[in-house]
Amino acid sequence: MSESPCAKCERLLQLYLDGGLNEIEAREAENHLDDCGYCHRQYRFERAFREHLRKTLSEEPMSPELRIKLAALRSDVRPAGDP
Ligand SMILES: [Zn+2]
Repeated sequence: MSESPCAKCERLLQLYLDGGLNEIEAREAENHLDDCGYCHRQYRFERAFREHLRKTLSEEPMSPELRIKLAALRSDVRPAGDP
């Protein structure tokens, strides 16, 4: 079973936004984004979301509630066997 172009693009999108794709993969993603309105909307949304996050994180001090939430998340993903 082969992967649909949109499924593949969705998978590449996260890496693309993080700059984690090689040149060939990035071009493939860009080509698909040019052709596909659905994926282009996804891309614009993801990019705006990341920009918003970056802005929020760099400009505003973290609220104590968020700090606690993040700390709880981190302790959840701590590898087993850690004290
Ligand atoms: Zn698509």
